Amino acid sequence: MADGLSAEVKRLARAAGFDDCGITRPALDARDVDGLRRWVAAGMYADMAWMAEPERLARRSNPRSLLADVRSVICVGLRYTPPRAPTADGCGVISAYALGDDYHIVMKKRLKRLARALDRLLGAHDQRVFVDTAPVLEHALAASAGVGWQGKHSLTLNRDGGSWLLLGELFTTAELDCDPPASDHCGSCSACIDGCPTGAIVAPFVVDARRCISWLTIEYGGVIPRHLRPLIGNRVFGCDDCQLVCPWNRKASTVGSDLLRPRADNRAPPLRELLTLDAATFHARFRNTPVKRTGRARLVRNAAVAAGNSGDRSLVPALVRLIEEPEALIRLHAVWALIQLRDAENSTAIDAALRELRRREHDTAVLEEVARLR
Ligand code: SF4
Ligand code: SF4
Repeated sequence: MADGLSAEVKRLARAAGFDDCGITRPALDARDVDGLRRWVAAGMYADMAWMAEPERLARRSNPRSLLADVRSVICVGLRYTPPRAPTADGCGVISAYALGDDYHIVMKKRLKRLARALDRLLGAHDQRVFVDTAPVLEHALAASAGVGWQGKHSLTLNRDGGSWLLLGELFTTAELDCDPPASDHCGSCSACIDGCPTGAIVAPFVVDARRCISWLTIEYGGVIPRHLRPLIGNRVFGCDDCQLVCPWNRKASTVGSDLLRPRADNRAPPLRELLTLDAATFHARFRNTPVKRTGRARLVRNAAVAAGNSGDRSLVPALVRLIEEPEALIRLHAVWALIQLRDAENSTAIDAALRELRRREHDTAVLEEVARLR
């Protein structure tokens, strides 16, 4: 149970803009560390090679390695607005957390504000703040701090706000009273496992990043495996499906004022607009959002996949223009989309464009994609 000091820390966390706050010791359950090691051993970290680096893995397994003499971990949660109604035809879907300001920036600013307040409250102590980038097993710490339990989709959720929640941590050398750990309320539910479009949740609490649309569309910079492209649908940045089907999210309370300031024009961006983004427009359009960090090439790649899945033949001219792109990554996915959209009416134009591409193309992966056209 929190003492007066811990209660004051939580009041300061709320004043800094956080919706949830819990305190725990810098220690992990052996079950969480084992789970991490098994996940890495199975190669489910995809191309995020840093996840498997022994030194980084050791640090992730031991929160004490991140700050000398750390005694308490303050886990905070920032809630955001859930996705709204299904996206209209011809539009892409951007994950709800990415519709507005980049949470890394928003969260870090708030954590630093909290750190300054703690300096005044606690006197001499060392502290460090973390938002996603450092080797912190944040969901395990959040569970042990009582912020929420780790759902079978691997994300943190609680009974009040569901899983529309982003996590951050403040490590401090000050000794604070801890909160009781969160209890698990998934029960026999498996809605997220059953509802994942790509079967990425291979077991409760285990997500194979190689199949996860969030990883494929955000982190991964390469060619999206052909068999997964149709399953991506119209998701152009991230995926909320495992959260959308969660019964706790249906009951979640709404966010008062969303610090991430979701932008209306990011809710359902027309695919035609995304396919025709040049570098300057991309940077202006997605400035300060998480989409910007992913870069134009990946977003246009994702939009091409979504266009191929859309059945919308009016997107063919924009895709034909994309096969002129300098980036092979974009050309390849545009070719795939054109073949998906090819029908009796447009086949002459598409075939001519792809024959012309074959004549000048040097990239073997793009040529392989074109060769699918017989
Ligand atoms: S984010 Fe999407 S693809 Fe990834 S586990 Fe959840 S439902 Fe599956
Ligand atoms: S969908 Fe069901 S199993 Fe998945 S996180 Fe929500 S409650 Fe847990």
